[in-house]
Amino acid sequence: MNISDQLSKTASLHPTKPAYIFQDKETSYMELDMSVTKFASGLESLGLTKGDHIALVAGNSPHYIIGLYGALRLGLTVIPVNPIYTADELTYILNNADVKAVITMDLLMEKFDAMDAALTGVMHYIVGETGQQGMNVKGEVRSKMKTFTDVVAASEDSFKRPELQKEDLAVILYTSGTTGKPKGAMLTHRNIFSNAKDVADYLQMQEEDRTIAALPMFHVFCLTVSLNAPLMNGGTVIIVPKFSPQEVFRIGRELNPTIFAGVPTMYNYLIQTNNGNEGDFETIRLCISGGASMPVALLEAFEQTFNVVVSEGYGLSEAAPVTCFNPTDRPRKAGSIGQSIWNVENRVVDEFGETVPVGEVGELSVRGPNVMEGYYKLPEETAVTIKDGWLYTGDMARMDEDGYFYIVDRKKDMILVGGYNVYPREVEEVLYAHPNVTEVAVVGIPDPNTGEAVHAFVVTSEETNEDELLQYCAEHLAKYKVPVSLDYLEELPKNTTGKILRKNLRSRVNQA
Ligand code: AMP
Repeated sequence: MNISDQLSKTASLHPTKPAYIFQDKETSYMELDMSVTKFASGLESLGLTKGDHIALVAGNSPHYIIGLYGALRLGLTVIPVNPIYTADELTYILNNADVKAVITMDLLMEKFDAMDAALTGVMHYIVGETGQQGMNVKGEVRSKMKTFTDVVAASEDSFKRPELQKEDLAVILYTSGTTGKPKGAMLTHRNIFSNAKDVADYLQMQEEDRTIAALPMFHVFCLTVSLNAPLMNGGTVIIVPKFSPQEVFRIGRELNPTIFAGVPTMYNYLIQTNNGNEGDFETIRLCISGGASMPVALLEAFEQTFNVVVSEGYGLSEAAPVTCFNPTDRPRKAGSIGQSIWNVENRVVDEFGETVPVGEVGELSVRGPNVMEGYYKLPEETAVTIKDGWLYTGDMARMDEDGYFYIVDRKKDMILVGGYNVYPREVEEVLYAHPNVTEVAVVGIPDPNTGEAVHAFVVTSEETNEDELLQYCAEHLAKYKVPVSLDYLEELPKNTTGKILRKNLRSRVNQA
């Protein structure tokens, strides 16, 4: 089974149910499934065939869903890319991925116009019309450009779906990677389908659920949790083109959503914008957090303010992505990423790959139908990441006696102070609990005596002097973990999925 065929199955079971809501207008499963088939057939008439690679460079929209499911229906491999990437980043990824066509939006066409000469393999641009500027490109690119409407109009009634195998490549996800060039995680139809199904079942997503898709769809968290999983079981996706707390609260009041999924930064914005107006989150039964660690102080404040349960999960692109979630039918544990979802095994191992005792810290490794085939065209990188069928995540974790996992930190973010390991997260959790701290990130800085020392970057809601914050840390942490210095920022540098860019922070202190 693959997600595109599954969509047809859902459409035959629930033809008139809304599959998605965009700009407050509902589109049924039957309509969506027909658009997907037409789009797939239109792509075929452009000369694209099973196994070809197509990039999807667009914002959250119906075009995104039809583009994704349509390309998969024709057996193409989809490469989702962040539309705000620079020309250099886009060029690298599209060339590295051997892309033959690009699905994008009119407002991005000027960018592609400037890049086209460098995109050696791209033969077609398929452009979703938003009614905004950008279609007015010239020359070479104009001849390669078709609108969504053109592509759908070129569809044939005789279209036949190619047979897809579970090991065929469905998606290549370029992971942000904190060093070097991004790497393409190759995900098969089995990877994508199984994770969407396992997440939907584990979180008990039902036909009645209405999930707010406010994360960017190019990111695997949104792709699986807010898009593919809800569509598995006949639920409805509420498409949010661009996240803003006001829009999420409006949807909360007007569209009866039941699930919200976001990264911790979004929860932070939501709670800072609103202190719990009655009705805003009244119909929400489940809030999902992932992508980065959810500070316990924020999770608890959010649950109390909005009277909802926040369930944290964990995943990575290489695992399509979800490996753990807090269960919805048993207690959730604050600060934990929950238990292994069904069909996926997680274990904590030492440097020899041996499982460590309960409660001890080691590297989290994962096995299951969701684990990628490897990195595209990088066999050596693949061999060090997947060993004996286990994916080594690069995240340090521990497991408690109930089988709940806790992410301690990224292996490479660990700070070594005079021979002691300091995990930034532990220090950050303490500072987050200070009433005036709204955001914090901790990095290592060179220290002549101890090799490295801890430095904190904080965002505060009101002026709070350094001594007070450092004293606060000293009351809660062993001496070597207490920051030796601190910087105040207006906000922390983050990527579009809310991950703190520690690299930028480190270079700031190193330059100072
Ligand atoms: P990406 O491949 O971009 O989805 O990034 C995956 C990485 O995000 C993981 O390897 C973790 O470092 C981080 N991550 C995801 N979820 C969590 C979480 N709940 N807690 C801590 N880190 C997380």
